[in-house]
Amino acid sequence: MTTLYDCDVLDQASLLTPAEQAAILRLRATLDEDVRPLVNEYWSRDEFPEQVIPKLTGLNLMNPHEIIDAGETPSDLFAGFRTFELARCDASMSTFYNAVAGLFRTTINLGGSPEQAAAMDPLVQTFELFGVFCLTEAEHGSDIAGGLATTAERNGDTWTINGNKRWIGGVWVADTLAIFARDVADAQVKCFLVPKNTPGVSYTKIMNKASLKIMQNADITLDNVKVDDSTRLLNINSFADVAGLLRNMRSMVSWIACGVMAGAYEAAVAYTKERQQFGKPIASFQLIQEKLARMLANLTAGLAMTVRLTQQQQEGTFVDANSAMCKMQTSLLMRETVALAREVVGGNGIVVDYDVARFFADAEAIYSYEGTHEINALVVGRSITGVGSFK
Ligand SMILES: Cc1cc2nc3c(=O)[nH]c(=O)nc-3n(C[C@H](O)[C@H](O)[C@H](O)COP(=O)(O)OP(=O)(O)OC[C@H]3O[C@@H](n4cnc5c(N)ncnc54)[C@H](O)[C@@H]3O)c2cc1C
Repeated sequence: MTTLYDCDVLDQASLLTPAEQAAILRLRATLDEDVRPLVNEYWSRDEFPEQVIPKLTGLNLMNPHEIIDAGETPSDLFAGFRTFELARCDASMSTFYNAVAGLFRTTINLGGSPEQAAAMDPLVQTFELFGVFCLTEAEHGSDIAGGLATTAERNGDTWTINGNKRWIGGVWVADTLAIFARDVADAQVKCFLVPKNTPGVSYTKIMNKASLKIMQNADITLDNVKVDDSTRLLNINSFADVAGLLRNMRSMVSWIACGVMAGAYEAAVAYTKERQQFGKPIASFQLIQEKLARMLANLTAGLAMTVRLTQQQQEGTFVDANSAMCKMQTSLLMRETVALAREVVGGNGIVVDYDVARFFADAEAIYSYEGTHEINALVVGRSITGVGSFK
């Protein structure tokens, strides 16, 4: 008997406290009632169902009442399973929630001074401060560390920012952009919380995506954008500080990958039990069962790795190479799992109405964002060999 999920056969969710499990079940109820019925239609329309935003943010799941009432603090494992639950429903929903609860919140709490973090974190938790993470540029993805070309120039207490950002998720609903820019004075990367309505900020939707179609991404242009020095996050003074943020964020992508595996696996199992061929449910065929077994094993292995990494993250003992390895490996497992799910659903596996097609297509974005397979592998390779193959 598993605690929260039939597909969690090692019962890894039992590591959550009863209060944390109750908060996950409250999230699940909202997803089942208000989100799940919409996702396939909105995926096909290439739109985000904005009506779900107040339902998700109103759950207060960065600080759930069940956990507070029990006298506990939400653990990193809770944040992980929260992400897993969202991704099990839809990868875009988890990416959207994680843009604020993961990327932006980590940027505030690790990138801000203690005073900045103390002032802003409560507002982030309630989505009153709704920010997104703007690092990637049109000409610089994997090589952003050395290549970051957006500039910031200080004149008195005013900074002028010029450049562009690409792929930024959630811009259309955010009020604040955490913009990473290179200080022309010392060539170091700094971070500014730029109100989206600042003159000189413009953005356009990236059109014609074939993956993660619900989550909207934007190209941003920054043209002589002027902000006060008080918008600068004081603990980000070099790219090494940005790398520290990424190290802490990567485990969340592993949780998303595991959630996508769970969603695809569950949809595939349900279909194979229903679908009859040769007078029997296809679930009874040996070759189908072998694929279901591989999917479940992939999910179980991915979860085990992600749970342990998250525990180490909470303890403060995790290392960069392990977070890169976990993102790399769970993404590989996810890619195989969604392909197997799509395969056992046959022709209907390419029709969005049967869910697996959406997970199959969305997996490709997750495979590439927050460090591609190659870049994460090279971080691991550097750790194994002591030789860095990229900067
Ligand atoms: C859906 C989605 C959402 C995103 N959201 C955000 C966001 O909110 N904020 C943000 O800042 N960014 C975001 N990103 C950007 C994301 O992090 C980048 O796409 C990613 O880092 C890869 O950069 P790139 O797409 O420019 O690929 P490139 O860097 O151009 O890479 C292309 C290929 O070359 C390979 N490659 C590059 N360098 C090497 C090397 N040295 N050795 C071997 N292979 C190499 C890569 O692995 C990849 O296979 C998002 C991306 C996507 C797709």
